[in-house]
Amino acid sequence: MQDFWWRTTWPLLPAALISLILWPTAGAHIALAVLCAAMLLLLLKHLFQLRQLMTWLKRPDLEAFPWGSGIWEDVFASLYQELRRHVRNETQLISELERLRQAARALPDGVVMLNENDQIEWCNPIAERLLGLRLEHDAHQPISYLLRQTEFSEYLNARNYATPLMLKLSRNPDMTLELQLVPFGVNRKLLICRDITHLEKIETMRRDFVANVSHELRTPLTVISGFLETLKDIEGAVPETIRHYFDLMETQANRMRNLVNDLLTLSRLESSPTPAQEKEIDVDTLLEHLHKEALNLSGGRHCIILDGIEPGLHLIGSEEEIHSAFSNLVNNAIRYTPDGGEIRLSWKLRGQEAVFSVQDTGIGIEPQHIPRLTERFYRVDRARSRETGGTGLGLSIVKHILTRHQARLEISSDYGKGSTFSAVFPRDRIVRSDH
Ligand code: ADP
Repeated sequence: MQDFWWRTTWPLLPAALISLILWPTAGAHIALAVLCAAMLLLLLKHLFQLRQLMTWLKRPDLEAFPWGSGIWEDVFASLYQELRRHVRNETQLISELERLRQAARALPDGVVMLNENDQIEWCNPIAERLLGLRLEHDAHQPISYLLRQTEFSEYLNARNYATPLMLKLSRNPDMTLELQLVPFGVNRKLLICRDITHLEKIETMRRDFVANVSHELRTPLTVISGFLETLKDIEGAVPETIRHYFDLMETQANRMRNLVNDLLTLSRLESSPTPAQEKEIDVDTLLEHLHKEALNLSGGRHCIILDGIEPGLHLIGSEEEIHSAFSNLVNNAIRYTPDGGEIRLSWKLRGQEAVFSVQDTGIGIEPQHIPRLTERFYRVDRARSRETGGTGLGLSIVKHILTRHQARLEISSDYGKGSTFSAVFPRDRIVRSDH
């Protein structure tokens, strides 16, 4: 600061000195006039430099930067350096932004950047192609305005973007897209889209293949089982010495039939996303049937109790599918509970949700197996599963059915002591019946 005062006032020093010398000889007026003239000149010089700066600021250009002397030289030099730093940063930012855009353009997936009002800020050419957008036209337009499909609007508004959305565009139903919203920054989102038509085709082919093979196997298996049974029933047709082999063949044929049936059930469930024929299910009656079926299957080996059935608590869904899911859980409990064990079935409200539980005092499951139980053909003990007529597909079917009913499967188990399998249904699926 000291330097500033010195540098701005020193040009007045010679004039002040001359005034001092003139004062005694030429008089005070002359001396003051000389000093005033010097001050005026200095003021004019500052005004001139200020004007130069103002003119330049109107059209700032590094090439035509104003030149100054004295303190203005310092002002212009600092300003020049600051400006150059700014220009350098800006160039660097622009090139980084351009690099990012080039990378986003090179991505094999479509990317759309949305602002806090879900309006398009930017998108790459793949997104333009897949979603039928045109950036010049569609920038600042709300995405829901351009992608007018109920499924997408629901996905966008649900604000739960953990899983992607599969979408068949109405303007091009042959194409299947996978759309995933990724929140970032403050309320902004990236919409990532991918063409999964070929994956869908492969998946459909796989499903069709399994369904066709299962279907083709069904008739020969029925014939084989039928003849085996008939032969066994005909007096003397099967000599006692080989009767054991016939029993084995029958068991294996039955196993294959169960497997084929389960595979067909799975492909039926996979081929339609929602349950057919949804209606109000009288769960009380359904559980009574299940109870009878369970007693039959157990043949008196277990104590099976209907425990805590909330009367009049009904469910909206497909009765056939719900029956199949519940009976799978009950059958498992019977198959994995040693004789003399206890199995409790319950159906009640837990908070806003309705829960069907099957609790057994069976062999239990070690914790590391629990997350994988609903995978196809995942079995903790293959031999035991086979022995009891298992296919390894039961829980996979249960999970499918529950997912189609927006429900979930909860499994808890104490190894060696027993397990509880619960189907938890959301509030929207529950209805109260007065009778
Ligand atoms: P599986 O036909 O082999 O029973 P599931 O899909 O129904 O096939 O069940 C998968 C595996 O989960 C079974 O093989 C078994 O190891 C285990 N499991 C299912 N239910 C029970 C249960 N109630 N108690 C113990 N283990 C069970």
